[in-house]
Amino acid sequence: MTKIVDAVIGGGGMVGLTLGIALARCGLDVVVADPVPEAQALAAGFDGRVSALAFASVRMFKALGIWEYLAPHAQPIEDILVTDAKLGAPPSPFSLHFDHRELGAPLGYIAENRHIRSALFAAARGVTNLKLFSPAALVDLETTANSIDAHLGDGTVVPARLAVAADGRESPIRASMGIGVVSWSYPQWGIVATVHHERPHGGVAYEHFLPSGPFAILPLTGNRSSLVWTERDVVAPGMMELPQLEFDAEIARRFGAHLGKTHAEELRWSYPLRFHLARAYVKPRFALAGDAAHGIHPIAGQGLNLGLKDAAALADVALEAASLGLDPGGIDVLSRYERWRRFDSFTMAMAMDGLNRLFSNDIAPLRLARDLGMGIVDRIGPMRRFFMRHAGGDVGRLPRLMREEAA
Ligand SMILES: Cc1cc2nc3c(=O)[nH]c(=O)nc-3n(C[C@H](O)[C@H](O)[C@H](O)COP(=O)(O)OP(=O)(O)OC[C@H]3O[C@@H](n4cnc5c(N)ncnc54)[C@H](O)[C@@H]3O)c2cc1C
Repeated sequence: MTKIVDAVIGGGGMVGLTLGIALARCGLDVVVADPVPEAQALAAGFDGRVSALAFASVRMFKALGIWEYLAPHAQPIEDILVTDAKLGAPPSPFSLHFDHRELGAPLGYIAENRHIRSALFAAARGVTNLKLFSPAALVDLETTANSIDAHLGDGTVVPARLAVAADGRESPIRASMGIGVVSWSYPQWGIVATVHHERPHGGVAYEHFLPSGPFAILPLTGNRSSLVWTERDVVAPGMMELPQLEFDAEIARRFGAHLGKTHAEELRWSYPLRFHLARAYVKPRFALAGDAAHGIHPIAGQGLNLGLKDAAALADVALEAASLGLDPGGIDVLSRYERWRRFDSFTMAMAMDGLNRLFSNDIAPLRLARDLGMGIVDRIGPMRRFFMRHAGGDVGRLPRLMREEAA
C-alpha cells in the first residue's frame, strides 16, 4: 500500500508553496502538485505583477527561510502618498501621507512575483520532506475513512490525511469538491507594466485615485516602478493595444513629472477584476487557501497577504493537531481554520470593495466626503498609525508564523 502523506497541496503558486514549506519544515510529509513546471513559472512573460508584502508576510518569509533569497530583490516602502486626482487637473489638496518613521520600520516591501516564486522554489529545495510534483495537475479527490486520495494528471495517486486546494481563483479543485462561490465582476481591468524612470523614487509608493480607478506606482529596486493601473473595462483593451510611444505618453500623463522621463517595458499584462468568496473553506480532510478561497480588488494590494495568512493559520491548526497526535485533516481541526480565516477574508474583501466604489467615480459629493476623510486621517497620528498597522497585516489574531517573535 502507498504511504499516506500528511498533506497534499494542489497548487504550487505563492500560497501553496509557502504552506508546503511551513508544514514540511515542522516535520510533516508534504506533496505539492502543480501543472506548471518551475521554468515556465519563472519565465519573464508568465506573471508581470509585483506584490506589496505586508510586514506580517515578511516575518513569515523570514521565519521560513524564504526571505534570504528574496531580500536582494525586495524594495522597502518608506512612504505611501495617497491622492484624489483627475486626469489633467492638479490633485486635491487633501491627501494622505504614511511615513515609515512613525513606525520605525519600512511600511512593507515590494517584490516582483517572479522573484517571490524563485525564492519559494529555492527554499523548497532545502526542505527534504517536501516533494514537488510538476508538471502534474490535481484532477480529483476521493475521501475515504482514513485518508483523502489525490489523483494527479499523470495517473499517480497520493493518499493524504489532508488535501488543500491552493489552485488560484478559478480553482478547478474547489469546483470538483462541490464548493460554490459568491462572486461579481468589477467593470475594471488591472493593467500592469514595469516603468523605468530618470530619478530615484526614494522608496515612495503612490496611489492616485482617478475616476476610472486607482493608479498605483509601486517602487522596485533601482530606478524602476511597477504600475497597477485600474481602468474601465471598455477602455482597457484599447490601452493594452497602444503602440509603445502612445502607451508611454499615457503613463507620463498619469505619473506626473516627479520621477523625470519615464519609459515602460514592452511586456504588459491585464487582469479583469473580480470579487469572489467561497461558500465554505473546508470539508472533511479538505481545505481551501489563497485565491481558491477568496479574490479581492487589488486596490490596496492585499490578496496575496490574505492568502499567506491562510497558509500561516492552516499551518498553525494542522501542526498543533499533529503535535498532539491528532489527525490534521479532522473536521474539528479544519473548522477552527475556517472560523479563523473566513470572517477575516470577508471583512477585508468588503473593505476593498467599498474603497473601490467610494473612490472610482467623479461624483462631486463623494469626492468632497472622501477628500475630507483623507484630510482628517492625515491630521490624526493614531488614526494614521491604525491604518499603517492594518495595511501591514498586524491586526487581529495573528498566526504564530506572522508574530514578531517568529521572524
Ligand atoms: C493586478 C493585480 C495586482 C495585485 N497586487 C497584489 C499586491 O500588491 N499584493 C498582494 O498581496 N496581492 C496582490 N494581488 C493578488 C495576488 O496576486 C493573488 O492573491 C495571488 O497571486 C494568489 O496566489 P495563489 O497562490 O492563491 O494563486 P495563484 O498565484 O493563482 O496560484 C495558483 C497555482 O495553482 C496551480 N493550479 C491550477 N490548477 C491546478 C490543479 N488542478 N492542480 C494543481 N495546481 C493547479 C497554478 O498553476 C498556479 O501555480 C494582485 C492581483 C492583481 C490581479
